[in-house]
Amino acid sequence: EQLANQIAAGEVVERPASVVKELVENSLDAGADRIRVEVERGGSSLIRVRDNGFGMDAEDAPRALAPHATSKLREAGDLGRIATLGFRGEALPSIASVSRLTLTTRRSAETEGVEVAPGGEGPRMEPAAHPPGTTVEVRDLFYNTPARRKFLRTEKTEFGHIAEVVRRAALGAMDTAFTLAHNDRVHFQLPAVEAWDDSERRVARLLGEQFARNAVHIVQDSGDGLRLSGWVILPTAARGQRDQQYFFVNRRPVRDRLLGHAVAEAYRDVLFQDRYPAYALFLEIDPEEVDVNVHPTKHEVRFSDGRRIHAFIRHALDEALGAVRPETAR
Ligand code: ADP
Ligand code: MG
Repeated sequence: EQLANQIAAGEVVERPASVVKELVENSLDAGADRIRVEVERGGSSLIRVRDNGFGMDAEDAPRALAPHATSKLREAGDLGRIATLGFRGEALPSIASVSRLTLTTRRSAETEGVEVAPGGEGPRMEPAAHPPGTTVEVRDLFYNTPARRKFLRTEKTEFGHIAEVVRRAALGAMDTAFTLAHNDRVHFQLPAVEAWDDSERRVARLLGEQFARNAVHIVQDSGDGLRLSGWVILPTAARGQRDQQYFFVNRRPVRDRLLGHAVAEAYRDVLFQDRYPAYALFLEIDPEEVDVNVHPTKHEVRFSDGRRIHAFIRHALDEALGAVRPETAR
């Protein structure tokens, strides 16, 4: 079983940033509106994610470390209706199989929390003090899989990947406060977004003042279940960076060719620009119409009607970009 978990870990846990991604997604799934991510030495010695979500009771906490013990999918038919970010129940056992993991958690209704860690014959468990919510601590990632540990890059590179993961999550979950710290230094601290200005401020903080100053805001409703909102940067002397392309489908960060293509096409046809557009866009769609179960790392999605989505995004961007198109480009 340990081996099976390590094999599963090969799919899910590529580097410290993958651990951060899974833990942060769990925190969001738990309804947290405050998430703190602390890492040491690029995440190779410590990754700690603390949230104020709904936590687990003493029965559920040890189950979370058992394979396929997801609480998020009750039956196969649910696969079409996934609203939560995680659903396979393999992240925690996989991570635990290649690190020293402890999970401390408390439900708000309980007076005391529990701490669980994997042990020889099932999880070890003891009472622990903890505010409502959950803390997962992952130490010494890959200590028992030296081949994989060898593939870790410099501390700075690994932290860069972690920062990118948290940045993505923080863009996707504006109403959640995020803190990211590396080696005891706060890298960013973002309050929960309460008003419109706050979301612009968060975008500026995460994507840079440059992006925020040159971005066109988009909100478009199809009237039949699709909604696109967000920002696209206008081409200026300052180039949009190719890596500043953020797309979210139902708040889940995705990398999808169809979506990227629709944006690039609008950029080209409306603004006559074949640069890489920089954007942060949020698509909301009926979960029945999108399949997120394509790959365990869940970056890809499949739409039941891709053409309709493509056309809608084109239309939304045409409107937004057309409205600000410089006179000379007409
Ligand atoms: P999945 O997210 O796919 O369900 P995981 O292995 O990531 O699988 O987590 C297993 C289970 O542990 C979750 O379904 C959830 O019930 C519980 N869990 C994990 N992290 C948290 C958290 N931060 N807060 C509350 N429950 C959690
Ligand atoms: Mg999960």
